[in-house]
Amino acid sequence: MRDDFPGLAGGWHYLDTAATAQKPQVVIDAMARAMGEDYATVHRGVYARSANMTLAFEAARRRTAEFMGAGSENEIIFVRGATEGINLVASSWGGVNIGAGDRIMLSQLEHHSNIVPWQMLAERKGAHIDVCPLTADGRIDLDWLETNLTQAHKLVSLAHVSNVLGSVLGAQRAAKAAHKVGAKLLLDGCQAAPRMRIDMAELDCDFYVWSGHKLYGPTGVGVLWARPDILEAMPPYQGGGAMIDKVSFAGTTYAPAPGRFEAGTPMITEVIALHAAIDYVTAVAGEGGMASLFAHESALVTAARTALRNINSITLYGPEKSAGIVSFTMEGVHPHDIGTILDEEGVAIRAGHHCAQPLMDHYGIPATARASFGLYSDESDVEALIAGLERVSRIFG
Ligand code: PMP
Repeated sequence: MRDDFPGLAGGWHYLDTAATAQKPQVVIDAMARAMGEDYATVHRGVYARSANMTLAFEAARRRTAEFMGAGSENEIIFVRGATEGINLVASSWGGVNIGAGDRIMLSQLEHHSNIVPWQMLAERKGAHIDVCPLTADGRIDLDWLETNLTQAHKLVSLAHVSNVLGSVLGAQRAAKAAHKVGAKLLLDGCQAAPRMRIDMAELDCDFYVWSGHKLYGPTGVGVLWARPDILEAMPPYQGGGAMIDKVSFAGTTYAPAPGRFEAGTPMITEVIALHAAIDYVTAVAGEGGMASLFAHESALVTAARTALRNINSITLYGPEKSAGIVSFTMEGVHPHDIGTILDEEGVAIRAGHHCAQPLMDHYGIPATARASFGLYSDESDVEALIAGLERVSRIFG
């Protein structure tokens, strides 16, 4: 399967898939075709090429809806990425539904893109942010959530899978707790969509966002799903072409969802390549579905954690059973030095705060080293990581 990925050539060990996944050739080809012999705009042209492009663009929307277990393709909004998806909800839904004194519940492990948009909204509206703590092993503490949500909470916004710890949220329990107090639940599915089954009906959330580049697709495209009744009541996010019904200087009316939220010429080639990425990932997952990718990656995490434990001075973070992501520190060695030495060994990991500074504060550390796996990862990656870390350990004594 590695041969499908030009970005993996050269025998290096790519352990930064949580940041962004390498692309299979079929995705690169789909994007090149869409930018080359098939290229034209969508939704406007009367000529055949543009009509075909529109069909391909809308087929991608249907495929995305099917992949997510959405009720209809009209529930799928193409955005630039998860970051834009969250900003869209904060600005549009939040602008109407969050007022002075209202509360928004986040958690200690959120990515900055699921913190800052809410802080900006709260500041604008005079609302408050609450932070759900973590369990000792680094999961969002749902017992705490259940007892601390109140009628003042209008929104709960949580990572489905942590990008630092790999912890998986009990999403249905979180949904139940949110809905019990009349709050909506947004799930940040950036790290879940590429490695586990996501089914909107089953998850029972109200909003779900993810980024195409983490699902082996291109950058510049992401998905926002929202319940249709919520979407219909949401005002536009940006104004411009394509999102309107009728424009006049006397006043403008807007298109229904999803068009209302997709102002301007969309990311045509990226959306078409995302379709190819979904097809590729689901084909690799095979009969067992996305659950088999989860099992493959979490087995690699278990192997990595077991081996890491045998290296002196390593501290592991996060739960034993997690999605394909593991964070660690080594006493007396800065994670950046770990990353630099591993790079000399042909092992690419991420070192830093992973856009989760409040989580680093929680552990009282500035950074971690993080290894993350993808569908192309295997035992040789774990072995190279461990061999590299043994060298780090020797260098630093
Ligand atoms: N949330 C999580 C959990 C993530 O891992 C990321 C990407 N690191 C984001 C949000 C933001 O995604 P993007 O930068 O693609 O918008």
